[in-house]
This record gives sequence, structure tokens and C-alpha cells, in this order.
Amino acid sequence: MRPWKLAELNYAVVKEHQFEVAVLPIGCTEPHNLHLPYGNDTFESELLGDKICEAGHEAGANVVLLPTIPYGTVTNQRDCPLSINVNPSTLNAFVRDIVLSLEGHGIRKIVLLNGHGGNEFKSLLRELYGTIRAHLFLFNWYQSVSDTYDKLFDSPDDHAGEMETSLALAYYPELVARDERGKLLADEGATAETRFEAVNRGWVSITRPWHLLTTNTGAGNPHAATADKGKRLVQVLVQRMSRFLVELSNADPDEKFPF
Ligand SMILES: [Zn+2]
Repeated sequence: MRPWKLAELNYAVVKEHQFEVAVLPIGCTEPHNLHLPYGNDTFESELLGDKICEAGHEAGANVVLLPTIPYGTVTNQRDCPLSINVNPSTLNAFVRDIVLSLEGHGIRKIVLLNGHGGNEFKSLLRELYGTIRAHLFLFNWYQSVSDTYDKLFDSPDDHAGEMETSLALAYYPELVARDERGKLLADEGATAETRFEAVNRGWVSITRPWHLLTTNTGAGNPHAATADKGKRLVQVLVQRMSRFLVELSNADPDEKFPF
């Protein structure tokens, strides 16, 4: 039993202990090029939740990791078979209920650990702000390492590219598909351009239709991925986030919090 992982704890332990910080991982169910599993973002979120909570716990944080939500918003993959969509309003309502449940149990500091770009929780933070006693923190893990990305990786990763494949090779290589020569069973992750320069250059944004944007759902070249790159990425994330969990755990949620 890991003393920071709720799904493994029993009532004998939990009824005697008041946790300070809760971490809720959220993923999604969708294809990732030809080589990565549908549960990829869910596996990533759970894996990072495990790593940061374990390190945080060992460094003194009073933290509990909740079970991972395996569904997210994938409306832009509606033409990809067995992409399972939960609309933003439904997902926000679901996460909101979990937050209110935690608040009812006296937890005042809650971290949403999001592993999927289609899940946008900032609107939920804004909506709940000032209406509940708990404080919400959004950890979109893939954004929190953007400053180190160029040092670790050769090419950008939008979806199932070098970063995500490196993580998978490091932590669940048995779920990374290869062809008969041992090469990744993946295309180059090239993406198509729309007819509008303003869209292509990011001046305006759209919900990108994934079946038109990509060839096999991958956006980003995965072929330079290695397990070592994945481990180094996780080291950076664990260092940053375990320290944050300790600080959050020790912080008094007074009227000036978090200042
Ligand atoms: Zn992903």
C-alpha cells in the first residue's frame, strides 16, 4: 500500500488522517499515431501523479493522489474510430463534483493534473474562484516543461510525437508498437495546412479536424524518441512538482493565500 495513493488505502488509514493536498489526474481515450495506445494520455497522467506524489510524500508533503479520470474532450477526433468524447461542459461538471466532494472532506488545496490538450480546465478554475473554500491549481504537465523542451528533444510534439513516445518508451515500452524490423510502427506525424494563413500561423484558432490534419492521428515526428529522453523529462517534472507539493502542503490557506 502506497500511503499517498487513495485507491490503495483503506478506511482504517483514511479515517485517522487529514490530507492537506489532493492531486486529480485526468487523461483521455483517443488514438496516438499507429504506435501508441489509446490510453496514452491517461497512462501519462497517472504515471506523473504517482511520481510526483511519491517524491512529494518522501519530502514531507501531506498529499493524496486520486484515481485517474480516463476520459476527456476529443471532439476534434470524432472521425477517428473509438475516440471517446466527453464534452467540456460535462467534464467540467464531473471535475467540479469531485472538487466539491474533496472540499466537503476538508481538503483546501487541489491540483488538477491534466495530460490532454483538449481538456481545458481554466474556465472551471475561473467559475469556481471565490465560490468555494478550496483552492484549485491547474497543472497541464506538457506546458510546464516547455522551457526545457528544446534541450531534451529534436522536434516539436503536438500529439504522439517525440516527447510522448519517449515517455512511453521509458515507462510502458511493451505498449509501443513496432514493425517486423523493430522500427516504430508510426508515420512521420506530418500535419496538413488549412487554406487560411491566419489559421496556419496561429493568428486565429479553430478546433482542428484531426482526420484532415493528420495521416494516422499523429502530429509530430516520433522517430527520434528514446527511453532516456523520457526519463530525463520526468526527472525535471518530478523535481519541479514534488517541491511545489511540499510548499503547497505546508502553506496556510489564510486570507492572502497564495500571496
Ligand atoms: Zn497524448
